[in-house]
Parts: sequence; structure tokens; C-alpha cells
Amino acid sequence: MGANFEELELQPTDLVGCRYRQVQRHRYPDTEPSSVGQQRAGRLRAARAEVFALLPQAPALGDPKKFLRIDIPDGESAEFDTLEALAAEADLITGVVFRGRSGESSWYLEVDALARMAHGTYLPVIVSNHRVARPREGASMLAISTTRLGLARKPTELPYQQRHHAIDGYRLSLAARALAEVELDSGWGAAIGQDRTKVFLAPSNTHQQALDAALQVTPPTQPRRVKECDSCRYWSFCAPELEAVDEISLFLSGDRAQSYREQGIHTVTGLIDAALGEPSALARAWRDEIPVLRRRAQLQAPRADVEIDIDVEAYLDQGAYLWGVFDGREYLPFVTWEGLGGDAEGENFARFWTWLMQRREQAAAAGESFAAYCYSAHGENHWMLGSARRFAGKRYGDHRIPAEDEVREFISSAQWIDMFRLVKEQLVGPGGLGLKIVAPAAGFHWAEAGFDGEESVHAYRIAVGEDSAAAARARAQLLSYNGDDCRATAAVRAWLEAGAPGAPLLGEGRR
Ligand code: SF4
Repeated sequence: MGANFEELELQPTDLVGCRYRQVQRHRYPDTEPSSVGQQRAGRLRAARAEVFALLPQAPALGDPKKFLRIDIPDGESAEFDTLEALAAEADLITGVVFRGRSGESSWYLEVDALARMAHGTYLPVIVSNHRVARPREGASMLAISTTRLGLARKPTELPYQQRHHAIDGYRLSLAARALAEVELDSGWGAAIGQDRTKVFLAPSNTHQQALDAALQVTPPTQPRRVKECDSCRYWSFCAPELEAVDEISLFLSGDRAQSYREQGIHTVTGLIDAALGEPSALARAWRDEIPVLRRRAQLQAPRADVEIDIDVEAYLDQGAYLWGVFDGREYLPFVTWEGLGGDAEGENFARFWTWLMQRREQAAAAGESFAAYCYSAHGENHWMLGSARRFAGKRYGDHRIPAEDEVREFISSAQWIDMFRLVKEQLVGPGGLGLKIVAPAAGFHWAEAGFDGEESVHAYRIAVGEDSAAAARARAQLLSYNGDDCRATAAVRAWLEAGAPGAPLLGEGRR
């Protein structure tokens, strides 16, 4: 099936990640987004609504009296309305649409807002759900308060450092081109990220070269499996295309097969037949649907008299709302639904920490060994240290926030064990060794099947939302998911200690 790419109107999302999406969008224009895609879009709509509610409606005391905000409604005339709003010299314009051409490519762009700056030029502003800047001593970025967009003509300096995201850079560069066409480009673009109250500015010329290169890329003629495929609306079309040619990316996604491609190996069967040792053995395991293999005959798992499995759930960068613990008999959730960043989160963390340290002390007093486990300690370490730092010095009744050094002492001790690290030393899997792969091999299954990190982000929003019936369901779902993550870690430990029955030895082929 051929596609006439000159007719294709590019969107910024076409320029990052899989370029085959653009081909499939052209072929199957009416394909609905995947459920993950819909949830993502819902979160973005919610982020925009939060930001739009903060934007000024009228001048504040001390501002010039004249202030014109134009909210452009969705619709076919949005592009025309944008140009009209610019001609009217509006101070703030939302719902902006631009179309343009760069070389052979035509493109379409939505921009959340345009704010009028000094000299009558405009600042394009986009809203996203990622972090666009992080606080850093000694760093400096220009910023405007969201509540002052269109009113404050000059930004102020804040000690933040920009976090680069290619997609944001492309959107703002395209917006700068569109504004330059009407001689209103300020030379700056801005993004509002997880902190909805701050608009961070950056020069918009830094991405122009990369944008030109991205616009000139010829779309590929066949798919290659990448990470994004998991949530892509076109997977049901791409999967059969990949399977038909036994494409090596079915097993090794993204660039992971690059070195084999350079050797002329483009299929899974080709990799198996090349007899390259572990890569070929893993390709065979993938084809035979064997998720986990043993690297060696004898396996081990550290055990203790008192064993606690821990799993944290956080919402984006905003905070940790759930510390789940499982002691082999009972699952105990330390949870708050009262919002993040304030005392509710601090107190919840303090209660969890107090409980954990009490169990540790009780074990020591009884002469018992103690160990706490998690599966991949990165998140837990990040939020334990981060919570100690963010709520430093606070006390909530009998529960206090530990000093950072106390947390450091614990997470660097032999009593804090990362099961993922131990699993990686002893096992190997064609699809990786995530808990969702290893625990089922150990015979453990989640009550909430198909729930993953992104789903949990979505569920948290509902759990703290206004629809109380939906919130109750989402809370139950999150607790079930977290509890099972803790139990799954325990199950993996027991399975490893038993020698991972059912997992063949690497190189030995079928079970
Ligand atoms: S399913 Fe994968 S290969 Fe196909 S368009 Fe989507 S991201 Fe690209």
C-alpha cells in the first residue's frame, strides 16, 4: 500500500519516536487511540483545564486597564481566528492553531496559548504533563507566573534548570516559525509542566536545525517494534506486518538489534540460526515463549526471620501517596488520598517509617534477623530520601520524619535488599526481568490483571477526584495492585530459593 507523503500534514508528534506512525495515520486515519493513549489525552486535557483556570481574565491592580484575552473555540476556523486575534493585538490568546510549510512538508500545530510580550511580539506557551524545569542552585531560567501571562511583559529569573524534551522543542520551534511569518516572533518559547503555576521560557531558535532535519526525514516503508508500540493505536496493523517477515525487532525492540542488523541478521530465526551463544539462546526462548531462564544450576535468595516486602506508589513527580508493606501474612497500606506535597503526605511517610523501624527494632530485641525487600529499589530509595528531605524536621504525634542520614543508613545496609538485582544476577529473560514477567513464572498472578505504571497514574487521578463512587473503585484497585506487587516480590524470593522450578537452564532449550 503506497502513501503520498506530500499530502500528509505533519504534526509535532510525528517528528519524535516512531516515524512509521505517520504512514499508518495516513493509511488508517479513523483508528481510535489506544486506551493508554486516551488516558494520556485525558490527563493532558485536565492539565490544560488547570492551567486555563489560572490564566488571567482581567488586569490586576496596578496593571494597565486595557487587557484583551481571546479564547479560540475548537473548530475549523481556529487557524483563521488565531490570525484575527493576533491582528486585534490580544494580550492573551488560548486554543491557538497554526498551519505552515517548511520545504516539502506541510504541518499543523496546536499551541495552548500566546502571550503578548514587550515590543508587541508573542510568546508561544505549551502545557505538558512532564517536568519542564527542575530547581537548581546557581542555575537561572526566565519565568513568568501563570496568573500573569499576557499581563507581565517581562519575565523574571528563577534558580531552575531546563529539562529538554524534543517534542516541546519542536512544537515551540514550529510556533516560532508561524509567528515569524507574521513578524510577531519574540524569539522565545515557553512551557508549563507539572508545576502549573510557572511558565518557563527558553530561546526558540535552538531547535530549528533539528526541526529542519526531522521535517526532512523520509518515513520508513515498514514498521520496527519500539517501546511506544505497547500503547500505539496502530499495533494491530503493525504486528502482522512484523510477524509476516519475522522481523528481529519482535524480539529485540528499538536499536537493540542494530549490531545484528549490521551483520546482515534481520529476522528472529536468523538470530537463532547464527548460534551466537546467549543472544541466540534468548531468541529461541522468545520464540518458544519461555519467559525466564536460569543462568546457573544453583540459585539463592537471602532469607530472614522477619521479612517485609515494600512497594511505593507515587503520582508523577508530585509525591508518594502509598507505602505498601507485606510481612508474609498481612498487607498493610500506609496511604493518603488527601493530596501531595503537604502534611498529609509527610505524616503518611512518617507513619510508614515509624512502623518499619519498630519492626526492625523488635526483631533485633528478639534476636531475630530482619530484612526488607523491594523489586528495583530506585523508586523506593528516591521517595524515602526525597520525603526525608521535603518534610525534614516534621513530627506528627508519635511519628517523625527521619533525617536523610537515617534513611541513607538503612538503604545502604544489608537489611535492604533489591530482589531485582538478585534476579538479574541469576536469571535471564528474552523480554527482560520485570516483576510482571518474573512473578508469573514463579506462579504469582495479580488480581488486577493488565494494570501497569501508566494505568496507576490514571487511577490515582480518579482516586482523588470528585466522583466518589469512581474514586472508591480506583482506590480499591490501587491498593490491590500495590498489595500484589508486595506479595509478588515475596513470591519471587521463595521461588528463587526453591531453584526457580520450571525455568530451564540457559542454553538447554525447552523445559
Ligand atoms: S505500532 Fe509501533 S511500529 Fe507501528 S506505528 Fe505504532 S509505534 Fe510505530
